[in-house]
Amino acid sequence: MILTPHFLTGAAIINKTNPFLGIILSFLSHYLLDAIPHSEYSIKNIKNRKWKKSFFDFLKIFFDLFLGILIIFIITKKIFLSFIGGFFAIFPDILTFFYILFPQNKILKYHYNFHKKIHFFNKEEQNSIKFKNMNFSEKIYFLFKIFSQIVIILIAIILLKL
Ligand SMILES: [Zn+2]
Repeated sequence: MILTPHFLTGAAIINKTNPFLGIILSFLSHYLLDAIPHSEYSIKNIKNRKWKKSFFDFLKIFFDLFLGILIIFIITKKIFLSFIGGFFAIFPDILTFFYILFPQNKILKYHYNFHKKIHFFNKEEQNSIKFKNMNFSEKIYFLFKIFSQIVIILIAIILLKL
């Protein structure tokens, strides 16, 4: 799942619980959300460690995170607390990035495989098909996988505003 729904979910959880419980639940929320069918933008250059070609991959991540941070600034006054929750909610993806940097590390590798397994509904081959080449049901499913993330973002915003 992209970073914005993760970040906002973490922010909502920590605002609705307490900092201690919030950190743990925000972290765990990442795996729960990743189990929901979702589509992601490609960062295959980063994944393949093609650093010279990775600029646009990093740019996508930057805008994704920027959107989450911007929404926090707009809708809540508890910026710092929200950032803590948001940080722990995206922490599994940070660990994945560290695995790409340090593939020899056994703990990072174990986490990487676990995190990948959580994505029950996201098969790599599905993501490589272009939208125009999909049949009707594949298109509907693809749109659903975007919609699912919009719903998560909206629920998190509502929780933050309540
Ligand atoms: Zn993830």
